Amino acid sequence: MRIAILGAGYAGVTLARRLESTLPDDVEVVVVDESETHLVKHEVHRVIRRPAVADAIRVPLPELFDRATVRTERVAGLGRDARTVHLADGSELSYDYAAVCLGSVTAEYGIPGVAEFGLPLASVDDALAIRAAFLSAAGVDADGVESVADASAGSVDVVVGGAGLSGVQTAGELAALAREEGVDADVTLLEQLPHVAPNFPEHFRRAVREELESRDVTVSTDTTVERATADAVETDQGTIAADVFVWTGGITGTEAMGGDRPLVRDDLRLDDRTFVVGDAARAVDADGEPVPASASAAIREARTVASNLSRLVEHDLEEARGFRPRLDPYRFDVPGWIVTVGDGTVAQLGPEVVTGKAARAMKAAVGAGHLSSVGAVRNAVDLVESELAT
Ligand SMILES: Cc1cc2nc3c(=O)[nH]c(=O)nc-3n(C[C@H](O)[C@H](O)[C@H](O)COP(=O)(O)OP(=O)(O)OC[C@H]3O[C@@H](n4cnc5c(N)ncnc54)[C@H](O)[C@@H]3O)c2cc1C
Repeated sequence: MRIAILGAGYAGVTLARRLESTLPDDVEVVVVDESETHLVKHEVHRVIRRPAVADAIRVPLPELFDRATVRTERVAGLGRDARTVHLADGSELSYDYAAVCLGSVTAEYGIPGVAEFGLPLASVDDALAIRAAFLSAAGVDADGVESVADASAGSVDVVVGGAGLSGVQTAGELAALAREEGVDADVTLLEQLPHVAPNFPEHFRRAVREELESRDVTVSTDTTVERATADAVETDQGTIAADVFVWTGGITGTEAMGGDRPLVRDDLRLDDRTFVVGDAARAVDADGEPVPASASAAIREARTVASNLSRLVEHDLEEARGFRPRLDPYRFDVPGWIVTVGDGTVAQLGPEVVTGKAARAMKAAVGAGHLSSVGAVRNAVDLVESELAT
């Protein structure tokens, strides 16, 4: 029997590691990812200001597993009827159960100019490209450790479109980078809804906005991006000059999923043999709550799927007759949320909002906790050191 886990982000790695310890040894677990490393994506914005953080947040995949087989290959699609994964090299991988954990890609929603001029942020390379674009616009030598801003370059206009978790943190990093490099910059964060971090609780949203504004980010809510050009972002509220335009306005499904994030049942199944976990799905939990695309949810969903899959496999191996086992519904329940805004941090724990050093220590603990939980202890230590050093 073979379980195919497609994608080795938060969802895929958490799921594969759990299955390694719960499934019998003769059940094959195959993990397919186009990348050779697991990326702690919720820290990737840090790389814009601290390129060295990239080493702490990437872990070679074979180091994470005891017995799962890792295949480095791009998934091209899924033939669910034939229970086959189509790989980009033309080969196929058959499976008994599959878990699609392929994450998401940036959505441009067909807004003119966004695909061409908007820089996405989903990988280390994206973060380095944003850094390079900012330093180049500022006339700063990107290679020079002691680089000095070229005063003749004038003020740098930076626009970040979309104020979800990634947009908030990206705007914060760019404002902090400008300060550190002595660059005169205007960083504007745009959001079409009335609030920053719109999918999160009200008191958290308010604290995040205050932190952004206290750290030199201009926040413009109720503002819809209508077009991007080489040097400006046009909105329904007017045109904003943009030497650097970062687009974090939304996500959609990967090409392998036909660009779709399918709606899954509350047990996170798409059909009897296919689970979709993390950003790859639109999930509504057991209480009817839409689950926000987040690392926290991806990890917790994977735990539910691990226990459901183990039950199904056990049932199949026993060739049990009668009803298939009941599966647990996923209940969205996270202890809170934490975002960084440059060197500031806002944490919401239950009803409490915490900022400052305590929140910063919690943020370091979250990333490090994930890395430790997947066995990457050295990376965890490096991440804490870099988080607390700034
Ligand atoms: C800048 C930024 C900041 C964020 N901050 C936070 C935060 O503070 N808190 C929080 O909870 N969330 C945060 N998020 C969101 C969080 O990172 C995502 O929700 C999370 O990564 C989803 O996990 P996942 O396992 O579903 O997908 P991912 O972590 O994206 O993993 C998907 C995996 O699939 C692989 N893959 C994709 N397509 C293919 C293919 N065709 N073939 C083979 N492999 C493929 C990828 O290489 C990757 O390893 C942030 C995101 C960003 C970009």
